[in-house]
Amino acid sequence: LTFRLKILGANSAAPAFNRNQTSQVLQAGSVNFLIDCGEGTQLRIAKSGVKINKIDHILISHLHGDHFFGLVGLLSTMHLFGRDKALNIYCPSPLQEIIDLQFKYSDTRLNFPVNYLFTDKTNDDLIFENKEITVNKFLLDHSIFCTGFLFREKPGKRKIIPGKIPAGLSIPDMLKLKEGLDITNDEGEVIYKNSEYTFSPKKPISYAYCSDTKYDESIIDIIQGVDLLYHEATFGNDMSDRATETFHSTAQQAAEIAKKANAGKLLIGHYSVRYRELAPLLEEARNIFPNSDLAIEGETYDLEIKTVDA
Ligand SMILES: [Zn+2]
Ligand SMILES: [Zn+2]
Repeated sequence: LTFRLKILGANSAAPAFNRNQTSQVLQAGSVNFLIDCGEGTQLRIAKSGVKINKIDHILISHLHGDHFFGLVGLLSTMHLFGRDKALNIYCPSPLQEIIDLQFKYSDTRLNFPVNYLFTDKTNDDLIFENKEITVNKFLLDHSIFCTGFLFREKPGKRKIIPGKIPAGLSIPDMLKLKEGLDITNDEGEVIYKNSEYTFSPKKPISYAYCSDTKYDESIIDIIQGVDLLYHEATFGNDMSDRATETFHSTAQQAAEIAKKANAGKLLIGHYSVRYRELAPLLEEARNIFPNSDLAIEGETYDLEIKTVDA
């Protein structure tokens, strides 16, 4: 499986310096997830090469306009392009009222069903699952209800170490080993310990999206070991008081989260309109966490697949 992340926008409150508000597409295997949908997102989806009617899942972190003002326009275009298959939207519950109201007064009836999953109404953090991946939501510390999203590849079947297949092992037991289970006898004693006979073909890949949040160590356990972490960095350290007041983070704080979570790589974004140049934010992050980069609109980031040795 590959995860391919396309940045459609990485600015905060307003567009500035040719940078647009927040939106991303994550291609996870055959599934496209649109993550947040700032104003004008549909134009940038078109530029990205992703077909809008190949997007079946839209995740909205919270209801500040820079994260969803592009949604009604996008739904209208999907409708005009003849979409008839269902669209799934994962969002705080008031978003449905906002969308319904706009279509009510334009007398628009979408010719496709919209299924909502309300992130503020479900206690189950698992919001999506297919054969290959899971998506979990987790709470962020922002001025209004806001969640991040964690995308994880499911672990593949384990492989039996060549030459180590125990003689006379039955096929059901062989399958058990591949599932990662130990083989026990009738008395429940372990005869074949899984770790001695199998190895994992590769490490499952993962991506965490941390939308608007102030510095919050409670997410560290949740995103521990993630391959790629996107974390907002609205401000530089010179504005750390302002960051705390407005429930945002600095580049340094984003990097501290990445470091404590042992992330593989950090992408920072959600830049304040006060920064024409982003290099100082990147430098600040790299001082704490060297494998940091700027999320740049139009760029694509592929998640590396690491092979684990036997
Ligand atoms: Zn925002
Ligand atoms: Zn916000």
